[in-house]
Amino acid sequence: MFLVDKKNSIAYLESSLLKSCDFLTHAFCTRRGGSSRDDYKSMNMSFQEGDEEFRVLANWDKLATAFDIPLDNFLVLNQVHKDDILVIRPHGDYFTSREALNYDAVVTNRPDLAICIKTADCVPLFIVDRIKKVIAAVHAGRSGTAMGIGAKVVRLMRDEYGSLPADMLAAMGPCIGKCCYEVDTAAAQAFCGFTNAGEFLSEGGRRGKWMLDLIEANRRQLADSGLPADNIEASGLCTVCRKDAFFSYRGSGGITGRQINFMMIKGETPCRTYFTDDPGCLH
Ligand SMILES: [Zn+2]
Repeated sequence: MFLVDKKNSIAYLESSLLKSCDFLTHAFCTRRGGSSRDDYKSMNMSFQEGDEEFRVLANWDKLATAFDIPLDNFLVLNQVHKDDILVIRPHGDYFTSREALNYDAVVTNRPDLAICIKTADCVPLFIVDRIKKVIAAVHAGRSGTAMGIGAKVVRLMRDEYGSLPADMLAAMGPCIGKCCYEVDTAAAQAFCGFTNAGEFLSEGGRRGKWMLDLIEANRRQLADSGLPADNIEASGLCTVCRKDAFFSYRGSGGITGRQINFMMIKGETPCRTYFTDDPGCLH
């Protein structure tokens, strides 16, 4: 189940599955509560879509203030609709080069780092190992989903962190729904390698057109990777149907902003243990 909440002016959704992990902060933000105008109204978080830079900066400031997370602690990928995964170790510098972070997923166990996915129709997918405290943010659009990016992230978490799929939770935020996602045959064919494609791809109302259910495609990928069905949830909101609340690339004809979705492992609470020489206190 997804819950709606608000911090300052910013309206956002939370997954109740992820909310049950007390070491996490996360939000699937709406487009509401920001400073941008017109096509970008109002909480546009992308500098790359033609919005005025100072307005996007103001939106980032609002987000940072509302959630009390320093601006520098947000990590934003340069999403390129592929399936490369950035792994960030718990300590040290993670910017090993000056190149853009051309990745569509990021996995980390580093506290206080808010990993972000920008969306306007694609699926923002968060995966959490609630036992080992490893988190992943995934940009699962049509291409990434067809490349199996969700399954790839689960595999990486198993291999690199020893995570067990049974311990993983997954939440998918607002995205284009099966009600609105018509694709052509070439796009549908990208899924022909999936034995269960019939479960998330159906013939559209028009010749040569197909209806694609990205949530179902990702849900099956995660289930096939071993996640229990009860550990996977989706918002059930379609960005095209709900253009009032979300940016939608399809719904806007291409010129629009991006909402932000982020998740962070909360830093350790400072140790307040009072040390004393009195052995009586060590009970
Ligand atoms: Zn729809």
